[in-house]
Amino acid sequence: MAKIAMTTPLVEMDGDEMTRIIWQMIKDELLLPHIDLKTEYYDLGLEHRNATDDQVTVDSAEATKRLGVAVKCATITPNAARMDEYDLKSMWKSPNGTIRAMLDGTVFRTPITVAGIEPCVRNWVKPITIARHAYGDVYKNTELRVPGPGTVELVYTAADGSETRELVQKFDGPGIAQGMHNLDASIESFARSCFEYALDIKQDIWFATKDTISKKYDHRFKDIFQEIYDAEYASRFEEAGIEYFYTLIDDAVARVMKADGGFIWACKNYDGDVMSDMVSSAFGSLAMMTSVLVSPQGYYEYEAAHGTVQRHYYKHLKGEETSTNSVATIFAWSGALRKRGELDGLDDLVAFADKLERATLDTIEAGEMTGDLALITTLPNPKKLSTRDFILAIAKRLEA
Ligand code: NAP
Ligand code: MG
Repeated sequence: MAKIAMTTPLVEMDGDEMTRIIWQMIKDELLLPHIDLKTEYYDLGLEHRNATDDQVTVDSAEATKRLGVAVKCATITPNAARMDEYDLKSMWKSPNGTIRAMLDGTVFRTPITVAGIEPCVRNWVKPITIARHAYGDVYKNTELRVPGPGTVELVYTAADGSETRELVQKFDGPGIAQGMHNLDASIESFARSCFEYALDIKQDIWFATKDTISKKYDHRFKDIFQEIYDAEYASRFEEAGIEYFYTLIDDAVARVMKADGGFIWACKNYDGDVMSDMVSSAFGSLAMMTSVLVSPQGYYEYEAAHGTVQRHYYKHLKGEETSTNSVATIFAWSGALRKRGELDGLDDLVAFADKLERATLDTIEAGEMTGDLALITTLPNPKKLSTRDFILAIAKRLEA
């Protein structure tokens, strides 16, 4: 049978450790037999990042701006231990951070739902996608231990030297203070990425802040979202039959717990940090979370939400059998192939992405899964497969 043709290449960002092993298996067993795969390959494995002084990461982000769609393998973010392990020239920054900054994008994390892996919250029958604003607030704050009586103020010095002051607190004794900021431009990009992605996957989008208490700071987020929605998205949302819903953060949390899922929840930075961990653990497993970075211009970079699964890699290096879950990495590939197919009008490619996902879920639903899922499944007598055998089981279904 003829292989499915591609026109525009995908940006392929290879990575590290166990996910690098899985990456190659997915290509060899699931993609190359069916697709005339076209990619522009960038090796973001730590050794090559080090050899290129991290230029390869920058190049891969530039390629994503040029080609529009990327798929990324998990990568090591170096720390002190990795400096020694890989004999690094420098403690290179997180590739995800570099790429996100260059694309000015927002990360959307979605649990992959499958029969037999049931969320703790029983009414969550459809996935909840969390979008986290990844700039500013408490993550870029300035803090102060106030040693004793005195005054803490916020001072804004304009370019012309004029000052505006706001009293934070007159302290009678020791305490603490903190200054935070955000940027209109960053909030605008966040809003556009959210609205773009909602239109892309045709789901409602929720956004929440504490604007009743934070009348200037949080209220600015609310206003920017509303202004951009009204000016650029209201009619497109109506056409698509989806909704933008704004509420207070505590009301949002209460509603999320009672909802059945199937929407995007846009969160300020801290809310997103906290809520994404809650949602992913409630849905089952970090190995079943996909992630996509969406730029306000509509560039897409797909990846798994988990890391390089270092512990399994060391077992693999010792020649021991591993049972690492490849589902999120497979869905990164299917997401990118589907998007490429949609942009290039390649119905075969879109259909293949659907088939690949279906074959993966069918494999699990038939009771064949990796160890992490076998531990939590509600299916009777699950069969625990090795890393390779799980991918081969999917390959068999894909051919059938
Ligand atoms: P991790 O790779 O996400 O793995 C943590 C643990 O979660 C694993 O040891 C494993 O538990 C379980 N797990 C995660 N993914 C799994 C999968 N696909 N199948 C089965 N089990 C899975 O996090 P880490 O070990 O803390 O980090 C390793 C490296 O990944 C670090 O160098 C970090 O910088 C990097 N990282 C990269 C990204 C990214 O590129 N997006 C994200 C996060 C971390 P058990 O060991 O109990 O089986
Ligand atoms: Mg967190």
